[in-house]
Parts: sequence; C-alpha cells; structure tokens
Amino acid sequence: MADDRNPVRLAALHPKPDTAMSARILDGKTLAERLKADLGARVAARVALGLPRPGLAVVLVGENAASQIYVRNKRKFTEAANMRSFSHDLSADTSEAELLALIDKLNADPLVHGILVQLPLPKQIDPERVTERIDPAKDVDGFHPYNIGRLVLKRPILRPCTPYGCMRLLAETGEDLVGKHAVIIGQSNIVGRPMALELLMARCTVTVCHSATRDLAGIVRQADVLVAAVGKAYFVAADWIKPGAIVIDVGMNRDAEGRLCGDVDRRAAERAAWITPVPGGVGPMTIAMLLANTLTAAELQDSA
Ligand code: NAP
Repeated sequence: MADDRNPVRLAALHPKPDTAMSARILDGKTLAERLKADLGARVAARVALGLPRPGLAVVLVGENAASQIYVRNKRKFTEAANMRSFSHDLSADTSEAELLALIDKLNADPLVHGILVQLPLPKQIDPERVTERIDPAKDVDGFHPYNIGRLVLKRPILRPCTPYGCMRLLAETGEDLVGKHAVIIGQSNIVGRPMALELLMARCTVTVCHSATRDLAGIVRQADVLVAAVGKAYFVAADWIKPGAIVIDVGMNRDAEGRLCGDVDRRAAERAAWITPVPGGVGPMTIAMLLANTLTAAELQDSA
C-alpha cells in the first residue's frame, strides 16, 4: 500500500503549482521499435501456422516531398515488421477514375490486407470518395465512415493511427486517465476528432478547441492531458501548461530556422509531468499503429 508519509509520494500527490519541473519524455521512437519487434514476432507465428504474411499496399499520387518521405518510412517499417509491402506510385495527373479502379483491384486482391492512400491528393481527386471506396476491412488508416462510426459507438476495429498512437503513449505513462480533463487543440477528421473519441472512451472529460475557440489559453491551463494538433510551430506557450500535465504534441512543423518542431513551446517541459518530443514522439507511433492495424486486418480476413 502507498505510504502517504513518504515525502517523495507526498510531493507527487501535491505538486506545488509554481515549482519548476522537468518532464519525463514519452519516447515514441523507442516504443515504436518495441511494438514493431512484437508485431514481427506475431507475423512469424502466423507464417509458421501456414497463414499469409500481412500485406500493406501504399498508394502515392504525385510528388509531394513530405508525402514521399512518409511513404518511404511506412514501406521501410512494413518490411522491418516482416509484412509485405506493395508500392503503387502514380503520376500527379492520375484521374480519380484511375485511382478508384486501382482501389477496386486492391480491395479484391487476397494478398493485400491493408490499403493506404497517402494524403493530400492532387486537386482533381476527391479524397472523401477515395476513402469511402476502400473496403472498410482493409481501411488500415481507420478513416472510412464505417470505422469512424465504430469508434463513435465505442466498438472500434481499425482505429485512426495517430490518435491510436497517442493513446498508446498515454498508456505508457502508467497514469490513470479516468476523470482527467483532456483538452485537444484541433478538430480535423484525422487527428482532433478521433482523438476526442479515444479520450472519451478512456473516460476523460474532453474539450475540443479550434480556431473559433474563445480564451484558448484559459482552457489549456485547465488541461490534465493536452493534445496539440494545430500545425503551427510553437503555438502553445509554455505558461499555458498546467503543472503536472501530460502533453502530447502531434504537430509536425518547421520553425524559422527550418528545424522540425511541434506545436508546443519546448519550455513546456519545465512544467509538464510528461511530454512527447518532436521529432521522435507521435510520428513513429503513427507508423507503428498502422502496422498494428494491418495485422488486425489480416487476422480479421483470415476468419472472413
Ligand atoms: P488541420 O487539418 O490543418 O487541422 C488543424 C486544426 O487546428 C483545425 O481544427 C484548426 O481549427 C485548428 N487551429 C488552427 N489555428 C488555430 C488557432 N489559432 N487556435 C485554435 N485552433 C486552431 O491539421 P491536422 O491534419 O489535424 O494536423 C495537425 C498537425 O499535426 C500538423 O502539424 C500535422 O503535420 C501534424 N500531424 C502529425 C502526424 C504524426 O504522425 N505526427 C499525423 C497527422 C498530423 P479549425 O477547424 O477551426 O480550422
């Protein structure tokens, strides 16, 4: 049983609001490596039983430099986890009909268990039509309305990878999330909204902020858990952070010197109890959860 007379524990229970803290780092890179190794072992066990290696098809349309890097990393990780990677690189002038025809082909291919179409797409292609064309059983990004609906109903199957990765990082803190006030900045379909659903499922009290939110700083100051998904370098000031908070920085930006950085001022680490670094926090976890979803999809298709 905990001894509340222990001064270390007392300090943890009653942190002084103005005491300078140094946050513990939520190391997504190391955790993602661990998950990748676990997934690789589970894939090897499947293969030993005569089941197919999970296959992930990654579709890239055009030559967006950032997308090319993301796609390269996804393919590299897929192979490192002992899964099969299928590459489809299409030219920037690909029509929507051509992309939809490729998706139909991949939907019907028994070697392909997961399909990922890298966003953004060129302007002649409607991303929603593309997302909805992917078989929900192969929708390893978790963006199809069917999979989002499952998450709304607290019965998720394939979960959007970035919020799923954030939940895995939160679990790593060992802190009980029940009843905590979680504040999310950003309400996009791929990060903010599914993140809110994940945190609700974990029984947090959730506030979602966006560009029309009034007194953003005042709301963030109440956050026991803060998830920043704005896309603006150092947007969240260090003095907005509640002492002892858990800070998950989803942002992936370039600062004035061209360095990769998050949405949160790095000095937030002096107040938070836990914080994710950028790079090396949420980014690698997004890819790890994509592979976890690919294995889940393959397992579901085994029994289909
Ligand atoms: P997004 O679609 O552009 O959404 C940004 C959100 O921030 C919107 O909801 C917007 O509000 C809100 N916002 C913008 N300015 C604001 C302000 N002044 N005050 C309050 N809210 C404001 O971006 P996203 O796709 O969600 O991505 C967000 C960031 O995460 C980007 O840096 C992206 O690169 C990064 N990201 C990283 C990963 C990863 O794996 N690490 C994955 C996905 C995204 P409105 O809705 O009102 O416009």
